[in-house]
Amino acid sequence: MRITVLAGGIGGARFLRGLKALLASEHSGSSITVIGNTGDDIWVHGLRVCPDLDTVMYTLGGGISDERGWGREGETFTVKDELASYGVEPGWFGLGDKDIATHLVRTQSLAAGYTLTDVTTALCDHWQPGVRLLPMSDDRAETHVIVERPDDGSAPDGTPLRSAIHFQEWWIRYRAALPTHGFTVIGIDTARPGPDVIKAISTADVVLLPPSNPVVSIGTILQVPGIAAAVRATHAPVVGVSPIVGGAPVRGMADACLAAIGVETSAFAVAEHYGARSSGGLIDAWLVDSSDADCVEDVNRLGIDCRAVPAMMTDVDATARLAAECLAAAETWRARP
Ligand code: GDP
Ligand code: CA
Repeated sequence: MRITVLAGGIGGARFLRGLKALLASEHSGSSITVIGNTGDDIWVHGLRVCPDLDTVMYTLGGGISDERGWGREGETFTVKDELASYGVEPGWFGLGDKDIATHLVRTQSLAAGYTLTDVTTALCDHWQPGVRLLPMSDDRAETHVIVERPDDGSAPDGTPLRSAIHFQEWWIRYRAALPTHGFTVIGIDTARPGPDVIKAISTADVVLLPPSNPVVSIGTILQVPGIAAAVRATHAPVVGVSPIVGGAPVRGMADACLAAIGVETSAFAVAEHYGARSSGGLIDAWLVDSSDADCVEDVNRLGIDCRAVPAMMTDVDATARLAAECLAAAETWRARP
């Protein structure tokens, strides 16, 4: 079975860890291709940093800090502190010493003319994540956020002025707490899907949307021209898992992202936002947490096969069971009359 997963950082990576465990015990001979979000990518101190690709690579390769959910375990921050003593910005970005080695390899290789896909493959040769990790695009396309900052001032009529800041600055420095008016992915209009990205969707046996951020992780991947169309057109069932449980994100600030695009923070609203493939949307089946079972009928009415299952990825076994529910939903869709 060929499984293709569109993934952001922590939620995507944790789900993939469970999916891998499931395949190791039950579906040997299967393969996983991950299409990773690169909208969070940023230049920091001259280094090219790809937070979501690295979270997937470190998590599956056994090097992640489980406590933080990003970066390396046993990390030190000597270089970051040293940079801060020079007063160079950005001081808010967490750049660990071990992590810097990854960014150095990536930056050097990109400068030598390799594509991000090539460089990611080379980094994965070292980390052995057990999946094929494909950046959504080799072209630069970075998420920016339209905000009002306290120091931006106002127009003569008193309207606060708006500016676009990099997603990382909004997320890390401001904790998503500024008045926010939406997202714009700079460069997305001319970004091309990475090599094999479209093929991975169109030749998959199952396409999964793990519980990643529906706006700035999966939403960004789907904005790369051609990717959403490939998801709509694939012969494979498309199954998603809600990152929203009980009206709140399990982790992170997906509620702020959803609010900024006018979508309610609920398992139902995210399903509605993706939409049923049978009516021009993106998903065939949607898994919500057992605690959200009361929305199942409403989601079914959208033309999406909805199931309530334990969706908290508390450990690898629980996550493997969640992944098994995804494959079961895919089978049901395939066997429909
Ligand atoms: P990021 O790029 O690091 O922000 O990570 P992702 O976009 O991959 O995933 C973030 C999403 O994962 C958040 O919206 C969380 O609510 C969701 N998430 C994290 N842990 C869990 C979990 O145990 N269960 C579910 N259903 N969602 C989770
Ligand atoms: Ca991310």
